[in-house]
Amino acid sequence: ATGAMAVSLAACGGGGAGGGGGGGGDDEEGGLVGVAMPTQTYERWIADGDAVKSGLEEAGYDVDLQFAGDDIPTQQQQIEAMISKGAEALIIASIDGTALGSQLEQAAAADIPVISYDRLIRDSENVDFYVTFDNYEVGVQQGTSLLTGLGILDENGEEAADAPEGPFNIELFAGSPDDNNAGFFFDGAMEVLQPYIDDKTLVVPSKQTDFGTVAIQRWEQEGAQERMENLLTSTYTGGDTTIDGVLAPADVLSRGVITALQNSGYGKGDLDMPIITGQDAEAASAKLIESGDQYSTIFKDTRLLAEQAVIAATSFLEGTEPEANDTETYENGVKVVPSYLLPTVIVTADNLEAELIESGYLTEEEVASGQ
Ligand code: BGC
Repeated sequence: ATGAMAVSLAACGGGGAGGGGGGGGDDEEGGLVGVAMPTQTYERWIADGDAVKSGLEEAGYDVDLQFAGDDIPTQQQQIEAMISKGAEALIIASIDGTALGSQLEQAAAADIPVISYDRLIRDSENVDFYVTFDNYEVGVQQGTSLLTGLGILDENGEEAADAPEGPFNIELFAGSPDDNNAGFFFDGAMEVLQPYIDDKTLVVPSKQTDFGTVAIQRWEQEGAQERMENLLTSTYTGGDTTIDGVLAPADVLSRGVITALQNSGYGKGDLDMPIITGQDAEAASAKLIESGDQYSTIFKDTRLLAEQAVIAATSFLEGTEPEANDTETYENGVKVVPSYLLPTVIVTADNLEAELIESGYLTEEEVASGQ
């Protein structure tokens, strides 16, 4: 499917002689598109950057791809530089979704369409389109897979006939508070988990259940490891309280959680690794799923997201509006941003090969080596 899309994009993006894609471009080639990505510390953003860049290039555009090392002023400067270099469209995965207002004003003043990529840019009217995954559903899938891993739900997501009674001890983690996605993931997961917390099938021994308390600033692995270490010390010493499940919202955070648990003896002897969720299907976590240390991840096919970003940019540059499939969900504080949402898939050891390897998303070697 990716190949076919690339061909049709090349056809409509005007890469060929006389195609003249890129709308306002002043040469035969498509114009320059600026692509701002948050960081290279997550595998996924490197994959996103590569896929967006090659999709745009195949469609005939020049690309300025920048990563900002998760530093907000760096990202602001990178976007300003793209505007002054004459970018004709911007594709932006923000670090802090509320911190780009003045850059987007500059873009609007220069008539540059802005596509918010994966993360919603907030508090600005100058966001023209949003391409992302169904972020609430990602959270629902994370909550569901935690329940499946614990045996409460069966593989169809129905209450398991032979469900153990519990109670199960779980702990909750959320992503960075300045990332609009983090709240969607957490709310989606809690919709699924809350009834089981209410009926005491699930217990959160730390009592830390509100988003602000469980959120990990800037999605940092060390932050997750440290919080897990603190929880183990404050709540799980004494030996009789052990942890059965962890809602972790992204693979990098899952790995921080896993390191803390391993350091305190989980995964050895009688002390089983808890059921741990994730997100992004990163190779390092696919390896941990195969070894049984992480239970699940949510597969978000970044190739498809990149394709949608390229389609949106191409539409704008040809003077048309990209097609949205959601015009209600993503209110950014100023307006509802028309969005294109993509579906996601729960991956466990059972379907990892089919979903990740057979689809060509990861190679067998990447899963085996974890990178
Ligand atoms: C993305 C996730 C990612 C997280 C951390 C979120 O905005 O949607 O896929 O795991 O950021 O980078």
